[in-house]
Amino acid sequence: MAQRLPRARRSLGQNFLVSPGVVERILDAVAAPPALPVFEIGPGTGALTLPLAARGALVAAFEIDRALAGRLEAELGKNPRAEVVNADYRGIDLDAEAAARGWTGYVLAGNIPYLLTSTILLGLPGLARCRRAVIMVQREVGERVLAPPGSRRCGILSVYLQAYLAVSRVMNVGAGSFRPRPKVDSVVLRFEPTAREGAPRDRGAFLALLKGAFAQRRKKLGNALAAAYGPEAATALAAGSGVDAGRRPEELTLEEWFALAEAAPAGGTLSDGKR
Ligand code: SAM
Repeated sequence: MAQRLPRARRSLGQNFLVSPGVVERILDAVAAPPALPVFEIGPGTGALTLPLAARGALVAAFEIDRALAGRLEAELGKNPRAEVVNADYRGIDLDAEAAARGWTGYVLAGNIPYLLTSTILLGLPGLARCRRAVIMVQREVGERVLAPPGSRRCGILSVYLQAYLAVSRVMNVGAGSFRPRPKVDSVVLRFEPTAREGAPRDRGAFLALLKGAFAQRRKKLGNALAAAYGPEAATALAAGSGVDAGRRPEELTLEEWFALAEAAPAGGTLSDGKR
């Protein structure tokens, strides 16, 4: 931790973790048994990568900043179990990367650039080989992810992620644990795949449904769906699912969302094809 930090590039969401206590707690969550290889998003100066490698973990880290990737590679030296890939995470197919390395399962870890939060989180249910993810997010986003369906804060991220994953809080992290100090506090979340009965198989259609329903939060469900898909499709959806269209989207339980998804046309194509 005593290392000199490089000048941070705000455009890449660079806020480096400088709290040994926070690092330790994240590592415990990442390396919890069963020990698995680790993919890391945005290793930066190696706050997580270096101690993970020191613990003997098999780790491959994707860093977009060429200078940081080079610096970390040099620090890792010739450790054959640690690899830094200078690449944009958004272009990486993690399951294919795992298959190429012969990894049948992996943990995804990251103190991520917050600009990519939605992209990364919404991608989690689709990672077939990912057995656990330990991700730092902005506190306010984390609270929404953790909000139970039916509660005031619940939104697209809560319903979509909880449909496929068990989500829990590892720890809250104050802004003072980073350099430069961000404007917001953070929270580390743990995600594990879970088989929830009735969870829609067509994740794309389910996400489209949630986006339509939550597009106008203050509106009643029926009005939101009508605005998104047209009145006829909205009425058919509510009737087919048995869900009262007069309620607000944040009031629905997971089971009611699943019933709505079930009633949606096969392939998820709603009347005006807004997907
Ligand atoms: N993990 C380090 C730590 O905890 O100190 C750095 C965290 S910093 C919040 C986010 C890191 O993600 C930076 O190193 C940044 O360069 C990198 N990054 C930003 N966009 C990226 C992308 N699209 N793909 C891969 N890495 C990215």
